Amino acid sequence: MTEQLHGTEVYNATIWLGPGKWLHEASLVFSEDGVIRAIGDAHGEHRCSQRIDANGRTLLPAFGEGHAHPQHAGLREQFAPVAMARNIEEILRNLGEYAHHHPEQEWIQGWGYDPSLAPNGQFDARWIDTIIADRPVMLRATDYHTVWCNTRALELGGVDRVTEQPQDGEIVRRQDGSPLGTLREWGATRYILDIVPLPTLTQRTDALAWASAQFLEGGITWVQDAWVEGDELAAYLALANGGLTVRYNLGLRADPKRYREQVGEFRNVHDQIEQLNDPFLTARTVKIFADGVLEAGTAAVLEPYHDCPHSQGIPNWSPEELTDAVVRFDQAGLQVHIHAIGDRAIRMALDAIETAQRSNPTWDRRPTIAHSQLIDPIDLDRFGSLGVIANFEPLWAQLDPLQTELTFPRIGDERANRQYPIASLLRRGAHLSFGSDWPVSDFHPLAGIGVAVTRQNSDGEPAMGWQPDERLSLDEALSTYTVGTAYQAFADQTRGTIAVGQIADLVLLDSDLSDIDPSQLGAVRVMKTFLGGREVFSRE
Ligand SMILES: [Zn+2]
Repeated sequence: MTEQLHGTEVYNATIWLGPGKWLHEASLVFSEDGVIRAIGDAHGEHRCSQRIDANGRTLLPAFGEGHAHPQHAGLREQFAPVAMARNIEEILRNLGEYAHHHPEQEWIQGWGYDPSLAPNGQFDARWIDTIIADRPVMLRATDYHTVWCNTRALELGGVDRVTEQPQDGEIVRRQDGSPLGTLREWGATRYILDIVPLPTLTQRTDALAWASAQFLEGGITWVQDAWVEGDELAAYLALANGGLTVRYNLGLRADPKRYREQVGEFRNVHDQIEQLNDPFLTARTVKIFADGVLEAGTAAVLEPYHDCPHSQGIPNWSPEELTDAVVRFDQAGLQVHIHAIGDRAIRMALDAIETAQRSNPTWDRRPTIAHSQLIDPIDLDRFGSLGVIANFEPLWAQLDPLQTELTFPRIGDERANRQYPIASLLRRGAHLSFGSDWPVSDFHPLAGIGVAVTRQNSDGEPAMGWQPDERLSLDEALSTYTVGTAYQAFADQTRGTIAVGQIADLVLLDSDLSDIDPSQLGAVRVMKTFLGGREVFSRE
């Protein structure tokens, strides 16, 4: 007698169960309550209410997104389209058209312009003035650490020749001392960000719903939101208990100026969200920005920048306060997720985590360093020994214009060629996770996996990959986006692999990954996404 089951059978599939384990012409059964019940040969023993022929294509555990900004991504869609522009003229043309169609908007905003389009990332307010002079215009670069605005916005923000140069930011100036129109890091961008009208709650919940649908299209069922403040939190709470379609963990942003008060506040947010009992929402993490980005010269580096010999970047914290903050948040039972890009910032982050481990009681803390871009060689072993998860955005590990135009000239070839030591960390026993930092870059995991495996840019260069020793195998790259992110999410016992008893978060691809040219990985599409056994995306 064949057992009757209300559930789904995917058969004739190439199944990647987890690291090193492939099954061919296999089937998988999951029940209506979202649990994987059986894995077997092509014609399973269960008779299911739904049967899906995979036609030999690959079935994977669903991906986790280790670092993204869904509301930023969704809001970006609601502003002037500057993200896809390939040159400054195109940005200005798009701005002009948008302003023309939106006479009702007091401010014109655009998010996600490419900072490599102007030499040294220095954009001039007067360029925008030629298109829009009567209304303030505020554009944010893809790094979200840099603002380019027009003269009207500078006037409204009170940024002029006599504005003091902030310690925690940079007002880029002309020869005559007047502000150019490019502002870097909090100390400078706040002049404008503080006066720009805030998105409404409806704009935010729309943005989050839109972004969630995008994640499902990419096969992602869990997301680390890596920058949550009051307004972002309000949108999550508004959608909690029914309105969220992807699992989210919130990274509440620590403010260097008031982190001591935030420890209690964040603990309250954590508890409040636990009490909601929404299986799609947790807030167990604190996001800390240790520094900026290399391409803007704001990442904190041990040796000065080549093009700016007096500068070692702009850390957002003193080492003492960063350590104090990590110790306090860790003591409150919150996971730290530290943006650290330059080798000086990464060392500060590791030192802070080490101190927290020494001074606080032992617990399952899983600290994460996000981006992990330029690591001093002597710090490589510390990730493994301290149990730090290195979160990488694999799409960045390629020689694109951001690298060749901005980063290489700033830090020089020797350091530039040590960026993103993904395989080095893996071989040294570190936990790895992947993410996209969307909307900074494309969120599709297979695009990132393609670069992790090839370390090639879209032209297929260099032939052997950038730093060929840092390439991952396909198996390692898949693991990092599934097992690795499930570990970061504290969900490695229930998700991230395919096994009987695991939750049925699955993706069915349009290709067989066990037999694919690595250069084609980026073009692979997700056909279906299942979350807890429910089909939540289907490409038809
Ligand atoms: Zn980020």
